[in-house]
Amino acid sequence: MKVAIIGAGFTGMTAALDLAEAGHDVVIYEKSAIAGGLASGFKAPGWQDSVETFYHHWFQSDAAMKRLVKRLDFEDQVRFYTPVSVMYHEGKFYPFDSISAALRYPGLGFGIHKIRFGFVGLYLRLTKNWRALEKETARDWMNRWAGEFVYRTMWEPMMIGKFGERYADRVNMAWLWARISARTTQLGTFEGGFQALIDHFVEKLRSLGVTVRFNTEITALEPLSDGKIRLRIGGGAPEYDRVLATCSPEALTKLVPALTAEYRDSLKELKSIGAVVLVIALRKPLSKEGYYWYNLPKSAGFPCLALVEHTNFVPRDRYDDQTIIYAGDYLAPDHENFSLSKEDLLKKMIPGLKKINPDFNEDWIVDCWKFSTPYAQPIPFVDHSEKIPDIRTPVPGLYFASMSQVYPYDRGTNYAIDIGAKAARIVMDNL
Ligand SMILES: Cc1cc2nc3c(=O)[nH]c(=O)nc-3n(C[C@H](O)[C@H](O)[C@H](O)COP(=O)(O)OP(=O)(O)OC[C@H]3O[C@@H](n4cnc5c(N)ncnc54)[C@H](O)[C@@H]3O)c2cc1C
Repeated sequence: MKVAIIGAGFTGMTAALDLAEAGHDVVIYEKSAIAGGLASGFKAPGWQDSVETFYHHWFQSDAAMKRLVKRLDFEDQVRFYTPVSVMYHEGKFYPFDSISAALRYPGLGFGIHKIRFGFVGLYLRLTKNWRALEKETARDWMNRWAGEFVYRTMWEPMMIGKFGERYADRVNMAWLWARISARTTQLGTFEGGFQALIDHFVEKLRSLGVTVRFNTEITALEPLSDGKIRLRIGGGAPEYDRVLATCSPEALTKLVPALTAEYRDSLKELKSIGAVVLVIALRKPLSKEGYYWYNLPKSAGFPCLALVEHTNFVPRDRYDDQTIIYAGDYLAPDHENFSLSKEDLLKKMIPGLKKINPDFNEDWIVDCWKFSTPYAQPIPFVDHSEKIPDIRTPVPGLYFASMSQVYPYDRGTNYAIDIGAKAARIVMDNL
């Protein structure tokens, strides 16, 4: 069978691996010049490792990633570190990456709030019953069990940062459960960065006979009367027995006019938010304490949600002794940061850098790069599991797998690998 895959992210590449190993003839079409999609990276002159365009790490609990790395024979390149994540309270930052660190955090006082926070955290680590949790918003559930003070202090700033004022109160509790229950304090990456694994993955696919065509955007998909699907590409119209699309739900509606109204409506119901990230290279370390991840409340005047000092995770000597910082934010795609130049975005971020380290000086800046995507974070509302479109679309032979369908888990490379494998199984079952 001739199978086309649209997108060389983790979903598309994993599906290609399984299909090629089962003996199918697979072509991946990727509009960018490199593979990896949202997890791809770049390298400035002098750097040994690439840096992801959007900050990336993975967790000890990411079983699908571990299996993939083993299959690709890349285990000796895995690096796990235990960098420190911090939260803000009255002008200072405190470690906040485990239940025990959270219990020492002064923002909750030392009485009933801390006890409720601890019990709720423990319950969420232990329960598997996410279906009951998706019936309620995270705000209502937390207000009831952890208390309004705990929700407002601990969770609301993160929910607002991730989903904006518009959606923060509407996200269901299963999403927050998935974040709390599936994460570890040890964080993983690869020698060379995620791009090193991704490039190795492409080589493995090619060795199995998969064709990977970069700089090739698919502009339309048309079902034909003989059951095949025609792809529209500038200058060509190849036909395939099966097609798997791994783009965003919105992009799929534009690519396939033949989708039924019902499936199209289910795609439109899948809301998401974008992201804008500025990567900044500095001559000196920013964090005096060596912290990796700063959760920043916008209510305290910070210009972004997260400030990530990547070189407190991966050693600076991999980057020509430069410090690599991400200033990142989840924003609706019509937010002004999407259209700002990198210089103007940098000007907006500088007060945040000075708040973190008052000695910071603009002379420390070596360079900066701006990255943005309108599709960064799916938004799950109450009863979301009932609203996820099937991987099989109503167009015979056309399949769809995206970040919006990995629920109840939050999007991530581990879950992209999972859904890519699931999509390949469904394609093969239907052959
Ligand atoms: C800010 C941010 C931080 C993140 N942090 C982490 C993290 O720390 N850890 C983690 O594991 N995950 C993280 N993620 C999530 C992770 O990057 C994604 O879950 C994962 O990469 C999704 O893979 P995918 O293959 O489904 O989609 P994508 O990576 O989006 O791949 C889809 C591919 O399809 C291509 N494409 C789309 N349309 C077409 C077309 N018409 N023709 C040809 N090609 C097309 C795109 O160019 C893209 O390469 C983060 C994401 C963001 C945005």
